[in-house]
Amino acid sequence: MPSKLDKLMPVVDPAITRGFKDSVHWRDTAKGDTDAFLYSRNHHNKAEESVIRALVALEGAAFGTTVSSGLAAINTLFFALLKPGSTVLVTRDTYGGTQYLLQTVLRKWGVTVKLVECNSSAAIIDALDDSIDLLYLETPSNPLLKMQDIAVLSEAAKRVGALVAVDSTVATPIVQTPLKLGADFVIHSLTKFIGGHADAMGGIILCADSKYANALTAGRETSGCQMDPHSAYLIARGIRTLELRMKQHCDNAYQLAHWLDEHAAVKQVYYPGLSDHPQHQLAQQQMTSFGPLLSFSLHSANQVNEFIEGLEVATMASTLGSVETLIGLPETTSHVECTEEERQALGVPAGLVRVSVGVEPIALLIEDFAQALAK
Ligand SMILES: *Cc1c(COP(=O)(O)O)cnc(C)c1O
Repeated sequence: MPSKLDKLMPVVDPAITRGFKDSVHWRDTAKGDTDAFLYSRNHHNKAEESVIRALVALEGAAFGTTVSSGLAAINTLFFALLKPGSTVLVTRDTYGGTQYLLQTVLRKWGVTVKLVECNSSAAIIDALDDSIDLLYLETPSNPLLKMQDIAVLSEAAKRVGALVAVDSTVATPIVQTPLKLGADFVIHSLTKFIGGHADAMGGIILCADSKYANALTAGRETSGCQMDPHSAYLIARGIRTLELRMKQHCDNAYQLAHWLDEHAAVKQVYYPGLSDHPQHQLAQQQMTSFGPLLSFSLHSANQVNEFIEGLEVATMASTLGSVETLIGLPETTSHVECTEEERQALGVPAGLVRVSVGVEPIALLIEDFAQALAK
């Protein structure tokens, strides 16, 4: 009998195969008739199994498979579900890599990609017709924290026979659970808050119905995007403190957002926890807190570089979702692929600063932002 601890402790096992004692068992395993471990590209390693068990439980999923990065999860999902002639409806503010994959790669393979504004259920429902095979959402969005109503849109998608996938990376299952709201798939970059320490990359695809398990498993197997056992171990270890960390990330973001909102040098704060955020009510309904991310602009956009270089606690970095507070500019992170004009057209104001709020003591963070803004 495994003890309770055996079930909880992640195990790192770098072996990519195991010896078989018996040729019948070996043949059956190779044919897929047993679930014994054959080879690392076909089967999840032990630490991946820990990650999957935890996230399947947290999201209320029927099936989950881990891959080597968040973008690998998105890639595997698209190639498992779409074929030439398929149509995807996607919100405008999705992650830059997702947009590139859809607009540049999948278009070349005969997939039609339709873009829609992401902060209006009416506009999305309007665009949902019989031609749509997949509705792809990302809520809250990065860096402007726009939101989509997962329950309402999932119901509308079902009426036209479209599947719904949600990139829930920014929220994590501690803050929102899209499958419970009616979505068919949820994907996460495990590199961000779920791993939580900026030391391992990974991704996961979870689904509400296990009928997609074979297609997703085959996608992982043939694209070769399996997760490295050491990365999987670090992510599994990160998950043991996910709930604790998310509470602190979100509490800190709430306090920092309200403090920035009162500051004379700050022009606008983008954060769903502010009562003047256009989707504040949806945020209260759909999420258990307002999330760990916020963005803001300064009155003097040309002083942004001086401000971010003046920060001593927060770090400039091209990622989000670590225990440290990380500052990102859209032109170096989420919208690195766009020109300044394209960013303006997407509604990303010049001089926008994104903050992935860490778990430091909040007084220390506010003191740091105060001294850097005073310069
Ligand atoms: C980072 C990120 C991704 C991509 O994840 P990687 O692990 O970097 O491949 C996808 N979606 C969102 C919202 C992200 O922040």
